[in-house]
Amino acid sequence: MEIKVCKFGGTSMADGNIMLSVKEIVKSDPTRAFIVVSAPGKRFGGDTKVTDLLYHAYAAIEEGDEAEFKNRFAVVRNRFSNIQSELKLPIDLSDAFDEAERQILSGAGKDYCASRGEYFTAKLIAALLNAPFIDAEEIVRFKEDGSLDPVTYKLTAAKLLRYKRAVVPGFYGLGADGKIKTFTRGGGDISGAIVAYAVKASLYENWTDVSGFFACDPKIVSSPKCIEELSYHELRELSYMGASVLHSESVFPVRNGGIPIRIRNTFRPEDEGTLIVSSGAHKSGARVVTGIAGKKDFTVIFLEKSMMNGEIGFAAKMLEILNRHGVAFEHLPSGIDTMSLVIDNKYLLNGKLDELVKEIDEALHPDRIHTRDDVALIATVGHGIAGDVTAPARLFKALSDAGVHVLMIDQGSGRLNIIVGVANADLPTSIRAIYREFFS
Ligand code: ASP
Repeated sequence: MEIKVCKFGGTSMADGNIMLSVKEIVKSDPTRAFIVVSAPGKRFGGDTKVTDLLYHAYAAIEEGDEAEFKNRFAVVRNRFSNIQSELKLPIDLSDAFDEAERQILSGAGKDYCASRGEYFTAKLIAALLNAPFIDAEEIVRFKEDGSLDPVTYKLTAAKLLRYKRAVVPGFYGLGADGKIKTFTRGGGDISGAIVAYAVKASLYENWTDVSGFFACDPKIVSSPKCIEELSYHELRELSYMGASVLHSESVFPVRNGGIPIRIRNTFRPEDEGTLIVSSGAHKSGARVVTGIAGKKDFTVIFLEKSMMNGEIGFAAKMLEILNRHGVAFEHLPSGIDTMSLVIDNKYLLNGKLDELVKEIDEALHPDRIHTRDDVALIATVGHGIAGDVTAPARLFKALSDAGVHVLMIDQGSGRLNIIVGVANADLPTSIRAIYREFFS
């Protein structure tokens, strides 16, 4: 039988009301078999996520203030007991809360404390769905170096496939030292993907509070179109540039298993959402461009030296300097006698840029070297670009009509994207112009 794994994010768990919608969603489809949950997120602007409350509580332990820890932990306890009474569930979590408090006070650790958000949420959802609760510590294992132990897949399949439906807390597993260990923040998406891969799901549904991936940032273009279908490659390009709906590491397990992901909106379950599939399975629709994403605050180091193309080792020497300083570069477009080195500003704090420029100048003797530290990168992404002769022309015409100066151009070798560098201040105008050209 077809198996779907559904992961519900924090906003889908924020209160009893939305949990009832989750129940309806799950019950409406018998193939929605394994349910992975996050801890309750924000109910309104200014609210605090349960995971953040738990980290805050643990900070008191680190400061040696047990009484304060208990006060802060009581806030979490309260939040869960409110949900429980909203749902009128006949389960009593107070012993389990006492036990968790005892464990934390006797050294169970920060990750254990943070993980209790998903633990208690999964307990409630299991009761609500009348399905077994399977603790992530029994199935998700980490190796000593902190990476996922592949035994996880075997344990997960063996444990879950006995049931028609079960609920698993996301975000954590058991470390090699026998203690609870969490993934990075937002890691419930990874847990869902692991479960999907382990049980050979036909679909990984990731339920959140938006109806899929927008073609561009809705803060820049109001109500942009939702992307119906996206390949994993396109997803990677767009997410890297800041379009974030999914935790980036969550893609790997499902991608390896050829399992599609569908992003869905718990608050609008009637919306189809976005389907993410492997590039091979991706049907090239009518659209040339799938999405547009942009990111501010890059520095470009522009280098000019006549006969640069014939100077063996020029680029190698430059990259060696970056290497020595632990600086990664994003792009390196070049001409015959020019090269533009694009670096994320986060690597260039505390005078690092001046140091780099000085060293490059001394080692490579360029004719000219200058920098600009207010550059935004915009990626226009789509498998359709490679096969469409008009796409680049349309893109640059749209930018020139909008009066945008293009500072740098880079096209990935797969021709899946065209990246342009513009001034930070031109980012919104540029994205609007490209969106208008390809989507309206
Ligand atoms: N609750 C965790 C966090 O807030 C994990 C997740 O939501 O996926 O980061």
